[in-house]
Amino acid sequence: MGFLDTRLRRLCCVVIAAGALAGPGASSALAGGGGASPGDTPAPKPKLSADQESGGIIPGQVKPKIKPKPKPKPKPKAKPKAKPKAKKKPKKKPVVKKPKPVPPAVAPKTATFPVVGDFTFGDADMRFGAKRSGHVHQGQDMSGAEGLPIVAPIAGEISWSSFQDTGAGYYLVLRGYDGRDYVFMHLRKGSVRVHIGDAVHVGQRLGDLGNTGHSTGPHLHFEIWVGGWYEKGGHAIDPLPQLRAWQKLGRKH
Ligand SMILES: [Zn+2]
Repeated sequence: MGFLDTRLRRLCCVVIAAGALAGPGASSALAGGGGASPGDTPAPKPKLSADQESGGIIPGQVKPKIKPKPKPKPKPKAKPKAKPKAKKKPKKKPVVKKPKPVPPAVAPKTATFPVVGDFTFGDADMRFGAKRSGHVHQGQDMSGAEGLPIVAPIAGEISWSSFQDTGAGYYLVLRGYDGRDYVFMHLRKGSVRVHIGDAVHVGQRLGDLGNTGHSTGPHLHFEIWVGGWYEKGGHAIDPLPQLRAWQKLGRKH
């Protein structure tokens, strides 16, 4: 009887030890084998070390020990997966906000000042209507450094470009989309970069401020004509109010 008890107890210890790790299913199998009493439950704990030394059952105990370790690992992995999903949702919101800044960026620039850089309108002698020998001044002079970019104040088409040694020097005429003619005179030699028939956009460089023709210093002589430049019924108007308006427009940008 003593041998059987020892053997049975040892078997119980092994099964319980494995059952403690495997779960309640192993305990019910133990009950099916019979012979084991509830009092055997505390005994397995100290004997567990003895079984490990004897070997044979150790592999079965080692396996369940390894399995529970990887199990907790996938759990934390599943949690971070849920978090990025929550982060993706707020990302969708800024995507909706992006279309809002697009409309103001489309706003076109319809006009700009014809001289880029520092200049001065000068005194009364440089204004429209100032007396000249044999005629009156038909434009507004703007003094500035030679080489300053001269740009198209509005969109249009180059209707004329030529050279007049005794007067306008290198000059050109822009027929604006508004039907008015804009005249640029005394441009620097070799700086005119547009030709008759060219369509130009606002701010497109036409040439450089110069001192060619009948001129006493680097400046742009600028005219605005209504009804066509030197056409029947056409006449020049004082361009200063328009120039000042473009000047204010430039300050906004
Ligand atoms: Zn002039």
